Amino acid sequence: MSTKPMIVQVGPLHGPTQDELARRYDVRRLFEATDKAAFLAAVAPQCQVAVTSGTRGMEASLMQALPQLKLVACFGVGVDAIDVAHAHANGIAVSNTPDVLTEDVADLALALLLGAIRRIPQGDRFVREGSWLKGGMALTASMQQRKVGIVGLGRIGVAIAKRCAAFNTELAYFGPREKPASGLRYFADLVAMARWSDVLIAACPGGEGTRGLVSRSVLEALGPAGVFVNIARGSVVDEAALTELLTSGALGSAGLDVFEREPQVPAGLIALDHVVLHPHQGSATHDTRAAMGRKVLENVEAWFAGRPLIDPV
Ligand code: NAP
Repeated sequence: MSTKPMIVQVGPLHGPTQDELARRYDVRRLFEATDKAAFLAAVAPQCQVAVTSGTRGMEASLMQALPQLKLVACFGVGVDAIDVAHAHANGIAVSNTPDVLTEDVADLALALLLGAIRRIPQGDRFVREGSWLKGGMALTASMQQRKVGIVGLGRIGVAIAKRCAAFNTELAYFGPREKPASGLRYFADLVAMARWSDVLIAACPGGEGTRGLVSRSVLEALGPAGVFVNIARGSVVDEAALTELLTSGALGSAGLDVFEREPQVPAGLIALDHVVLHPHQGSATHDTRAAMGRKVLENVEAWFAGRPLIDPV
């Protein structure tokens, strides 16, 4: 019988964070249980804290199976896979890991954008396949002087804007409210911003509030020379329309870190040479994952000590 406080770990996490949790707490791993019902029945009388990841999240039924639950600590800033409304309605706090991942995610957005515009993966293949020996690669579009529209000017959106400014771009954003302090052009209408933009970058939260926000009409307005970059969530874009428009040439190209049914990526997207695909790696650097882990540990520690959470959602 452990004397450490119990926590339930819903899914696998960054290794060192998982190890540190196990050192400090009596960690029960739901994802390793063969009989989930028996596991939940055994931990339910005691479990007040659950730790999960942004991709695994925590559904209402799992919270209901843990009636003593008081905190869901999320490894990740996006909490769209957690039923936050249910948690709050039932007195369960939720924490996440903002700020520490902002710069890495913004870096990846720019990498995907440059990769798509300057055709970097295609250039890599061109060299490896020996095509260069037969002649030079075709010219590409330029990143310079592009009009970039950011969907969601939050922490990551602002960091993306800062980077884009270094490429002499014109910037605008779309979101629920105008942010005059940003000094950037605001569009209250996403289709209008897409029509104005050469590049559209999604950096808003996922979940029901933004499902399909980047719709067929938005992508059509972006047009045949337009580039769409998604580092937000796959649910934010109509993926079927995205695939269809990229295939027909009605949309220029895309750089995608996130997909609707990860790790499944539509075969239609995989078949397209002019799309850069990446396996949800926005925050996946050693330093950032370690910093996210520290935030999870700090929030759990604060809760057990009766202090306010550091990153309440
Ligand atoms: P944040 O600071 O909360 O920013 C989110 C922004 O989106 C806010 O400015 C918000 O506007 C805006 N927004 C909310 N609803 C919107 C809507 N319907 N349409 C357009 N904009 C909307 O969060 P963050 O730290 O920048 O993170 C943003 C998202 O990035 C996360 O939720 C997550 O899904 C994603 N993410 C992805 C990765 C990856 O690995 N690819 C890593 C980390 C995060 P207001 O400010 O007006 O509320």
